Amino acid sequence: MNEKNQFPFKTIVILTLGIFVILVALVLLTNDLNDSSKDTDYEKQPPIEGQPLLGNDNAPVTVVEFGDFKCPACKAWGETIFPQLIQDYVDTGKVKFAYVNVLFHGKESITGSLAAEHVLKESPESYWSFHKEIFNNQPQTAKHDDLWLTNDKVLEVARKFPEINLDQLKESLESQKERAEIEKDAKLVEEYNVGLTPSIMVGGTMLEDPFDYERIKSLIEQELEGK
Ligand code: CA
Repeated sequence: MNEKNQFPFKTIVILTLGIFVILVALVLLTNDLNDSSKDTDYEKQPPIEGQPLLGNDNAPVTVVEFGDFKCPACKAWGETIFPQLIQDYVDTGKVKFAYVNVLFHGKESITGSLAAEHVLKESPESYWSFHKEIFNNQPQTAKHDDLWLTNDKVLEVARKFPEINLDQLKESLESQKERAEIEKDAKLVEEYNVGLTPSIMVGGTMLEDPFDYERIKSLIEQELEGK
């Protein structure tokens, strides 16, 4: 009697568990599909002429960061995702990386961007170190809204680079000499609907989650296969 009753009970438990496992798998699968479909595809990748570029000009895939020197998430991206991307794809000649300024934090974003554009023109070999050094000077996350990205701060950072002419930089900042460059960047921000920083594009695809390195990798691999 007991034996007979246990069998259907076991079967029901096993069936229920089985159905549960299948449902969980379906939910996870659907989430996965949703995740990738949240990326936005554009007809063409952003033009990168005149933008700071890392890597081989002939690299088949282009990755663009829309970033803001005053944004803590951009600093975090630069310290976590960026080094992996450089090591895996830029140093191996598969990807070229470009950076476009975003001015979401107003005057301070403008100051940092004007300085960076000046350095790109006058001392291009120092550009990426200067770029990193500005981010290094960002206060801790809790204080990032405090005023810090000023002409004086930028000049203080530039002092570490003997090849940067400080008088020229100061004059360039005061006269907003590179205004046209940051306006050009602002147009790209608009054209590609950049709403948060950092925003990362692999070819013509804007990532939903810029910190999803696995997704960045898979988009790069897809692009490489298509070329
Ligand atoms: Ca630019």
